[in-house]
Amino acid sequence: MQASISSKMRKQRATANRHAGHHSSPRLTTELDVRIGVFRQPAMQTPVLVLNASYEPINICGARRALVLVLKGVARTEEEQGAVLHAARMNVAMPSVIRLLEYRRIPHQTRALSRKNILLRDRNSCQYCGIVLTAGELTLDHVIPRSRGGLSTWENLVACCHDCNRRKGNQLLHELTEMKLQREPRSFSLHTSRHIMRMIGSADPSWRRYLYFESEPAA
Ligand SMILES: [Zn+2]
Repeated sequence: MQASISSKMRKQRATANRHAGHHSSPRLTTELDVRIGVFRQPAMQTPVLVLNASYEPINICGARRALVLVLKGVARTEEEQGAVLHAARMNVAMPSVIRLLEYRRIPHQTRALSRKNILLRDRNSCQYCGIVLTAGELTLDHVIPRSRGGLSTWENLVACCHDCNRRKGNQLLHELTEMKLQREPRSFSLHTSRHIMRMIGSADPSWRRYLYFESEPAA
């Protein structure tokens, strides 16, 4: 009887989580999020290279997310950052590279359109003046302003500093001689991700050995 009740409750909770938009093992993630949640230092946002079980680089995530994957037993740390996270009941070496323990098929699809992914695609740099800022100091700019029919799409959203955002206002780019896009905004595919991995990885020696896993056509 007890078992059937709790199994029913679990099912209800799973349904609730599904409705809330959580996809993978919500219970575990929440538990670990609470435990790691107190650490909000910049170190928790340091980019971590994610490898598939086959050592193929497949993603970049923040150190916080990487720690969750390691503590859940989904991934293991292959390279460490050097920093150690000290907590009441655990000391964890901050990862620099993690590897998934189970091979994951990567579907050929683009990433979700989100502020976070736009900033990642644009490497936290204003696409007009090139200044690199923290995520909190950047805004998103509609290249064709919304007031003039511009849509919220990968091709029409770019990372932008507040100064450039103000200067641009509701104008179209061709009306502004002094403002130009640094590059054409594109959707964020796995290929884009790999390109970014290499950009970031060239500065991090612990990433480099994993980044040329397979030959690919140049971007
Ligand atoms: Zn700017």
